[in-house]
Amino acid sequence: APIILWFRRDLRLSDHPALTAAAESGRPVIPLFIHDNLVEQMGAAPKWRLGLGLEAFTASLANMGSRLIFRRGDALEQVQQVMAETGATSVFWSRAYDPASIERDKTIKSVLTKEGVTAKSFAGHLLFEPWTVATKTGNPFRVYTPMWRAVQGRDVQFPNARVADLQAPVSWPASDKLSDWQMGDAMNRGAAVVRPHVKPGEQAALDHLEAFLGRLSHYSSNRDRLDQDGTSNLSEYLSLGEIGPRTVWHMVQRAALTGTPGADAYLRQLVWREFAYHLMYHTPQLVASNWKPEWDSFPWNTDPDHPEVTAWQQARTGIPVVDAGLRQMYVTGRMHNRARMIVASYLTKHLMTHWKIGMKWFEDCLIDWDPACNAMGWQWVAGSGPDASPFFRIFNPKTQAEKFDPDGNYTHRWIAEGYSEPSKTALSYFDAVPRSWGLRPDAEYPKPIVELPEGRTRALRAYESRKSH
Ligand code: FAD
Repeated sequence: APIILWFRRDLRLSDHPALTAAAESGRPVIPLFIHDNLVEQMGAAPKWRLGLGLEAFTASLANMGSRLIFRRGDALEQVQQVMAETGATSVFWSRAYDPASIERDKTIKSVLTKEGVTAKSFAGHLLFEPWTVATKTGNPFRVYTPMWRAVQGRDVQFPNARVADLQAPVSWPASDKLSDWQMGDAMNRGAAVVRPHVKPGEQAALDHLEAFLGRLSHYSSNRDRLDQDGTSNLSEYLSLGEIGPRTVWHMVQRAALTGTPGADAYLRQLVWREFAYHLMYHTPQLVASNWKPEWDSFPWNTDPDHPEVTAWQQARTGIPVVDAGLRQMYVTGRMHNRARMIVASYLTKHLMTHWKIGMKWFEDCLIDWDPACNAMGWQWVAGSGPDASPFFRIFNPKTQAEKFDPDGNYTHRWIAEGYSEPSKTALSYFDAVPRSWGLRPDAEYPKPIVELPEGRTRALRAYESRKSH
């Protein structure tokens, strides 16, 4: 009887324990993707990117004579229907760790098990399952550095080889057409502007990794530079599972063995992703509320329609490096990590706006959106998270720009107003934004909506008065 391989955020053929197990069983395999309510609720850009990933993955499966079956609706019902249509008796999937997916998967597993179906979940999305990493006293980590030390010496399982062959079922179940799902519908920005910046699929991920290994030795010195392509740009692939973290780990380790510097610095960043998942798994409130509840009483602005929030979202705060980061995200679906910290600090501190409003905007705009990394990043910057940067450490965007964009090249790449020769990328922002925003590249660059010293003083005052309560 066939095995259903329920794909979610694991759109790859190599380094895939669930797929390997299914392929090695010698039974027919039915690859399935379900557009359930969790997919429905995704932000515009990540959902659009997922659609591109599914298209690429369909082609990979087709190359070996297999198919990806598309179904829409309640996940349990769809799995049960496909089982009824095909006589499948097992369902395999790679684990997800966000609270909503865990709840869904637990229910499905328990119902199917009661029905006598083999429902089996596998590792693959992480280097280390969150429950296998613990402090000396057996507790989850709350602080990054000790976790990094704890995992450094551990063996990371070698990635499974690429699955080259899947046995087809005698007959395929019915499938929706992916294009009918219109996964880019919510992109009210010009998807045509974003599209050239995106290369979906497993092969593109491996190409990115290989190209990056050539730059690895400069990683430590360049990773914080806004004006350099110093990082791996692998986050969107890791997020959708178009590449597995174990593949990345081992390729980077191999480069380290041949003496390439930068490997440790890189793996340290990769383990931040593990830390985010570790936190989300053990303390699911990470994605929903202040990790440190004492922040509940902070006088955040919680109005998502506040004019300062709108100006921030539309990247016209009047602070060039902040606007540059936000425009980069709008046009490419990605933002440099340093810029993420700068724009998040500006929103939560200078504008005293709740980090959840920023987190939601990122969720709508980032093609590398990841529930754990996004939430941890925002809570880290805001100061409400575990091992967070203290609130009083307020980034000064001006000095950040001087340090990490010394010649202003990043700003020039993303800001058009005020330049006699704006760059192409800066102009493309104006093609990407909805017309209703009324933005024009030949307008005057906006004055700061909140002056830096004023915003800083206001935030610190609020922080001090909260502390004295
Ligand atoms: P590299 O420097 O090449 O790092 C390699 C990999 O390590 C990344 O792909 C990523 O998987 C992981 N990594 C690196 N830095 C971090 C970090 N600080 N936290 C967690 N993992 C990290 N990352 C996302 O993948 N999705 C998000 O939605 C996301 N939202 C963020 C929001 C805020 C406010 C902040 C401050 C950070 C956020 N990050 C997020 C983390 C980080 O900015 C990106 O992972 C990184 O910029 C991706 O670029 P890269 O792949 O070239 O990184």
